[in-house]
Amino acid sequence: MEIVGTLTQSPDFFDPPWPSTESLSGDQKLLIDQHNGHIASGGIAVAEVSCLCQSEQCVLLAIYDRYRIRLQTLIYIACGLIQSNPSMTEEANNALYSSDTYRALYDPQTINLSPEDFYFYVAKSSYRYEFVQECLPNNTFKGVLELGCGGGWNLWQYKEKGIEVIGSDLSSSLTRLVKALALTFEKAA
Ligand SMILES: [Zn+2]
Repeated sequence: MEIVGTLTQSPDFFDPPWPSTESLSGDQKLLIDQHNGHIASGGIAVAEVSCLCQSEQCVLLAIYDRYRIRLQTLIYIACGLIQSNPSMTEEANNALYSSDTYRALYDPQTINLSPEDFYFYVAKSSYRYEFVQECLPNNTFKGVLELGCGGGWNLWQYKEKGIEVIGSDLSSSLTRLVKALALTFEKAA
């Protein structure tokens, strides 16, 4: 990968002392500290991954995720793919997603979302759409696919602009919600 630029407007995702964008309990902070410690020590394996189209040029979107897990996120300017890179290996991902750490970090906040909650998350996520527009000002994409789309709030803006959207998530309660909102989403296999 070749990082050709950085989006610096959002200190949440770059400055180590900045609070996370999610409000976290003491237990969650502890889990994140442990998780970051395991990444730093190699206990959780990460590896560089190639873009599907083999292009190299990308813009750095974030060093931390919204929970302050230290995995950087890139957008490839040739094809628009957004991914963590270096990324957790398949084995490390499988271990995380079948663990109590994952449930304690992610599940409680979104497990019983109402349609009103959906629009709260849509508003909260709108900056991501702006990020992509800034990185890919001349894009002519006709469709957006998001793997791990949660309740689909990132895809809503595209849907509103007439772009075809497909999302996939492990959570059956979230996929039920977004289907109720007439979006096209599938529960991941
Ligand atoms: Zn690509």
